[in-house]
Amino acid sequence: MRILLLIFFISAVAVHSAPLAPVVPLAAQPSAHFDVDAATNAWLATVPAASKARSDAYFEGGYWLTLWDFLYTAAVMIVLLETRLSAKLRDAAERLSRFRTVQSVLYWIEFLAVTSALLFPLTVYEDFFREHQYGLSNQSFGSWFLDQLIALAVTFVLGGLAFAVVMAIVRRLPRTWHWWGAAFGVLFFAFVAMIAPVFLFPLFNKFTPLPDSSLKREILSLARANGIPAKDVYEVNASRQSNRVSANVSGFLGTERITLNDNLLNRCSPQAILSVMGHEMGHYVMRHIVNTTLFLAIALTILFGVLRWALDGTLQWRAERWRVRGIGDAAVLPLAVLILAALNLLATPIGNSFVRMQEQQADIFGLNAARQPDGEAEVDLLLGEYRKLNPGPLEEILFFDHPSGRARIQAAMRWKAENLCLFDAKLPCPAKTAR
Ligand SMILES: [Zn+2]
Repeated sequence: MRILLLIFFISAVAVHSAPLAPVVPLAAQPSAHFDVDAATNAWLATVPAASKARSDAYFEGGYWLTLWDFLYTAAVMIVLLETRLSAKLRDAAERLSRFRTVQSVLYWIEFLAVTSALLFPLTVYEDFFREHQYGLSNQSFGSWFLDQLIALAVTFVLGGLAFAVVMAIVRRLPRTWHWWGAAFGVLFFAFVAMIAPVFLFPLFNKFTPLPDSSLKREILSLARANGIPAKDVYEVNASRQSNRVSANVSGFLGTERITLNDNLLNRCSPQAILSVMGHEMGHYVMRHIVNTTLFLAIALTILFGVLRWALDGTLQWRAERWRVRGIGDAAVLPLAVLILAALNLLATPIGNSFVRMQEQQADIFGLNAARQPDGEAEVDLLLGEYRKLNPGPLEEILFFDHPSGRARIQAAMRWKAENLCLFDAKLPCPAKTAR
């Protein structure tokens, strides 16, 4: 009952009316003595102290959750190995079928069912209760749980397919499997990225072409100016799950599309929406999905190499006790997950920095394309509801997969300082003197 009341309260406060234009603080308004740092600080100062404290607590809690996620996952995997439950699951799979590929798939299904159940307490806290506690979600438990079941079903199918292929590679190519495994990993990522907008995302949300409006005409004009076909711009009903403002580019090899979420459309000024559009168009035009695939190819090659080395070493020491027959035995999976989770934890700052670099590029592209630095600052503050606005430099490198609010607003104000004539014809635009 308390949860229901909480949900009702959150959905009641989540209804915002969108501003007609960004409310620009005095120090960020165009003037002959416009100062980038003063403008940035003025924008940040518009956030009430209580909201900032809540966002900081939410985001900093996330640092610890990364660690708890790893420790909890590691504990579950160690239990599976030490109790020989993993070996028993493999035995059960072998009793059900003579075919090795089918055995791999059956083992995967058992493994996923057991680990999902054991990890459920952390999942429900992290994805449901915590999101509600911080006012970021308005989804009922039933609806959330159904989403989880759908995601689990997708993981049964896609994960089962991937696991069976990797096991077949390991058995047939015992000396070079880590190279082929990495290559398959890249192909599999590209495949999932390609089918996701068409087959996976619609399982959770409704995607529709943008509704007609003067704003839509501006967005499509911006899209045309940047070489993006109109059919690639969609709206998604993200308010089904949360009130986070967001947008993204998804798809690969022909299924690419830009999606704006309805929270963005309902909560932001037209200038802020255009600014976000410019950013997403940056990802699209600069083909960041291709960069990501190349990055993944390097990362997976290193990851699989280390995985092979760590599996060989650990199995020599522990295989008999765990009743794992070798790397070609499906029962080795908990050990592989444990090693990959540890490597993933260590590599998080590298992955974050790679993504953050692309986000900075998209920000600059968006400022140049949409020319809405105040809209950018407006939306950066809304993103600050779930991302710490003003972190230390090292904190940003380690934990941020997008630039912080301060960094993004500073970039926007730096852009504005060089383009003041766009906002007041009497002021100079140093970059446009040759006109
Ligand atoms: Zn982005």
